[in-house]
Amino acid sequence: MTSAALPADLVKPLLERATAGGAPSVEVFAPATGAKIADLPQSSTDDIERAFSTARTAQAQWAARPVRERVAVLRKLHDIVLGEQETILDIVQTETGKARAHAFDEVGDVAVNARYYASVASKLLSTRRPRGVLPVLTRVDVRQRPKGVVAVISPWNYPLALAVSDALPALVAGNAVVARPDNQTALTALWAIDAAERAGLPRGLWQAVLGRGRDIGGEVIARADYVDYTGSSATGRTIAQQAGERLIGYSLELGGKNPLLVLADADVPRAAKIAIRACFASAGQLCESMERIYVHDSVYDRFVAEFTAHTKNIELGGALDYSAGMGSLTFQRQLDTVRQHVDDAVAKGATVLAGGKHRPDLGPYFYEPTVLADVTAEMTVYREETFGPVVSVYRVASDDAAVAAANDTAYGLNASVWTKDAARGRAVAARINAGSVNVNEGFIAAWGSSDAPSGGLGISGTGRRHGPEGLLKYLDTQTIAQQRVLPIAPLPGMSEELWAKTMTLYFGVMKTLRQK
Ligand code: NAD
Repeated sequence: MTSAALPADLVKPLLERATAGGAPSVEVFAPATGAKIADLPQSSTDDIERAFSTARTAQAQWAARPVRERVAVLRKLHDIVLGEQETILDIVQTETGKARAHAFDEVGDVAVNARYYASVASKLLSTRRPRGVLPVLTRVDVRQRPKGVVAVISPWNYPLALAVSDALPALVAGNAVVARPDNQTALTALWAIDAAERAGLPRGLWQAVLGRGRDIGGEVIARADYVDYTGSSATGRTIAQQAGERLIGYSLELGGKNPLLVLADADVPRAAKIAIRACFASAGQLCESMERIYVHDSVYDRFVAEFTAHTKNIELGGALDYSAGMGSLTFQRQLDTVRQHVDDAVAKGATVLAGGKHRPDLGPYFYEPTVLADVTAEMTVYREETFGPVVSVYRVASDDAAVAAANDTAYGLNASVWTKDAARGRAVAARINAGSVNVNEGFIAAWGSSDAPSGGLGISGTGRRHGPEGLLKYLDTQTIAQQRVLPIAPLPGMSEELWAKTMTLYFGVMKTLRQK
């Protein structure tokens, strides 16, 4: 079956879930076919105000519920997402144009994160009892308070994973969420909200407002208690300014120009095969995907031959099944960027080893997976993120040269190192300026390990998702200290001088006893 617009009886009730309608609607089309998906209602300022006030009321009741009840919703949502995966895979594929295998990565991501945060929430949210200034006499409780209403502003490339997996820790921590999914992929987020309510989430707690980021982003941030944003580094700066103006917290998951290093002792066939997924998942519209490959001179020819052969074998298609190896790009502007980067590189002397062509015969935005060689610093593709199915291969003489080239970027999101010597791989990984580095994997080893934080260095972002950090960011700590029996002051009749001497003695004893 070819990807077509989704059935009306699926779309209509989902659209009704959005807090929208006050602004003129926009048409949304399926990238793979050009078929119309929906007239998407848009949110006015009044709609956004209503979404926040409803969410705020719901949040107060939700935060008072025992953690175990909040956890139960995540566990049930896990089952719904896996059980109804055919529906959500159809929606994700239709809205993005990606291959089903890459849409399934998103289903897996939600399942893994729902399970993880369900199992750690109770511990992370528990009140801590650190030692007080005077042991026994000072009791201290460090409480975890939800921020309130969290804005999750998510992009279109991984619409299920990025809208849901960041919302789940916010919700289980006792917050409400106002989501602003991208217009192109709003139905995916609305389906997730519907599924969460069927899993027991109180109605109103997870709202969706719809509109272009530059139109309504400011209105959303103006009302939020915290902002979780995923998108480009350029927009990340705007978000940070708006959040900074209000002195609210934010986390930014931004772009990347990720390097993959093939060391001299790499398992070349395995590296060449896995690199395919690392470069071309979601047609390269993946912040974590590899756009630069540095290969040691001694294995360069073998690696490039195998990698290029696999690339040429990738089957393109838009069917709502697992037949295609890669799908379509999502927008005209993505196609424009990909073409500009490839055409500019070729005009300046790059060699196209595979791909390099727009494929309108398959659908408006299909572009072949592309491998470039002889890329130089004058070419746009050398330094700028393409966010498409384009990767450049470079020959390097040593590990040091590979690390230096990998670090020659303002980004720092993800990296990959290939070697048969795991200790060497980890040592090289530690020298790369990236928030995550995968040894003998492209991105899924780090990304899928949900107990480990994920995020960027440099212009790739600030803050983390996944791991304890991915939940703790949605909380404020509150320290309640109670003084018992004796005050922290001279006892009656004691001079300030004797008090100072007594405390000096006490500080010395505490240090000798190596107390905190
Ligand atoms: P973009 O910044 O133009 O848009 C991303 C999202 O931000 C869109 O949904 C857009 O509507 C919204 N937006 C734009 N201006 C806004 C504003 N002023 N306020 C609020 N929201 C606003 O980026 P893009 O080109 O559409 O998306 C691709 C980029 O996102 C790439 O750079 C990619 O690397 C990055 N990305 C990063 C991650 C990550 O986890 N680090 C994941 C996916 C995408």
